[in-house]
Amino acid sequence: TLDLEHIDKSFGSARVLHDIHLSVRDREFVVFVGPSGCGKSTLLRIIAGLEEATKGRIVIDGADVSDAHPLDRGISMVFQSYALYPHLSVFENIAFPLRVAKLPDPELRAKVEKAAGILQLTDKLKLKPGQLSGGQRQRVAIGRSIVREPRIFLFDEPLSNLDAALRGDMRVELSQLHKQLDATMVYVTHDQVEAMTMADRIVVLNGGRVEQFGAPMELYHHPATKFVAGFIGQPN
Ligand code: ATP
Ligand code: MG
Repeated sequence: TLDLEHIDKSFGSARVLHDIHLSVRDREFVVFVGPSGCGKSTLLRIIAGLEEATKGRIVIDGADVSDAHPLDRGISMVFQSYALYPHLSVFENIAFPLRVAKLPDPELRAKVEKAAGILQLTDKLKLKPGQLSGGQRQRVAIGRSIVREPRIFLFDEPLSNLDAALRGDMRVELSQLHKQLDATMVYVTHDQVEAMTMADRIVVLNGGRVEQFGAPMELYHHPATKFVAGFIGQPN
């Protein structure tokens, strides 16, 4: 379990997160959805350890990790701009975290090949990122997360740079990946369709506050607030 306990965040005098208190279950796919500026990325960065909360704690499997180094949290984050190294091959891009960890070559190769297999990149391992499509690049970025075998994956709008058709395909692929890896996934988007189709449970954020946390159909049929009713009912 991933527990967010009374998380507050202020930048100077601007309070961007208000008492976020919720629990993500093991192997759950939870989507944080809300309008631009509502604090989604900030919250994800706090979970990852890339940003410090002003108040509150991040607890993973009962252990307070609020002060733990990002690499020691068993968490891996996939960003919108996937920051691949253009001069390195797909293989080396995926292998990067394992090189940093100084993993011996045979084990490194096995892990990279396994991740590439899952992501259907086996025949692309020798290419450079510039020779790939947007969706393939996104999969390389996910591959880089998978090789670290995290307990929890964080995704910050990973599909927003892709065209509509590819975005649809990648939604399906990510859902399959979730089942295959048996991992906990926390996924941030401002796209209601993505939230409704991918989530086990949805957190609706607005102005740094949780409006509602529940299953997609629960939000749809029993919105707790006017905001949720408008936001979930309204296609993009
Ligand atoms: P989007 O959907 O556009 O990505 P978001 O929900 O991810 O939006 P955040 O990036 O978390 O929103 O930002 C929430 C609020 O915090 C915004 O008002 C933003 O301007 C502010 N903010 C974020 N980072 C900083 C920072 N480093 N310094 C000051 N203010 C910040
Ligand atoms: Mg954001």
